[in-house]
Amino acid sequence: MTIDPETSRQIDELSLSNDPLLVLDVDDVVLEFIRPFPEYLRTRGFELKLENFGLNGNIVDLSSGDRATDKAVSQLVDAFFEVQHDWQKLAENASETIARLSKASQVVLLTAMPHRYRQTRRTLLDQLEMHYPLLTTERAKGPAIKRLRGDQLRPVAFVDDMYYNLVSVRDTVEDAHLFHLMADNSVRALMPPIPEGITVVEHWKEAGEKIARALNL
Ligand SMILES: [Mg+2]
Repeated sequence: MTIDPETSRQIDELSLSNDPLLVLDVDDVVLEFIRPFPEYLRTRGFELKLENFGLNGNIVDLSSGDRATDKAVSQLVDAFFEVQHDWQKLAENASETIARLSKASQVVLLTAMPHRYRQTRRTLLDQLEMHYPLLTTERAKGPAIKRLRGDQLRPVAFVDDMYYNLVSVRDTVEDAHLFHLMADNSVRALMPPIPEGITVVEHWKEAGEKIARALNL
């Protein structure tokens, strides 16, 4: 796994501190995604029928009854990101919990989305008063977090709703504290078991306490 060169460039623009590092995914960690996305899809004539974990194969074109192709799914997600400010709200208790943690840690948001939507997302986060640095990546998250941590080997915690992102970080930053959080826990039933070494948390209040303990805040 190598770092996305654009993510690397974005990291170079940050001033990194020696404080413990707290890296947060955005969709379904800081902002709701899986709740508003089906509502958006209906306005476009599609329905999300989650029969297994993931969007591909689970979106139906209401006019034909056909499943949307993976390419069409990716276009729908892109179109949603264009208008995310009309749909996405903060996850419950995210704002106050992250604000508290940020008093003794450096918080960085790391979202896996095409770089071209970075400014759209920045604007939305600023409207919601989430002024933490935002990085986009189109590659695995592990190398980006390794780079963010810097040479000081400061403590690191990472929160994501996608197990493969957590595994990427586990495999790259071996001592990182990893938390699996989903803004909507109803999707958990469809997920494969969470891999070893990852702490499952049900909501932001629980996450806040466990992150504070892990980072010694
Ligand atoms: Mg996510």
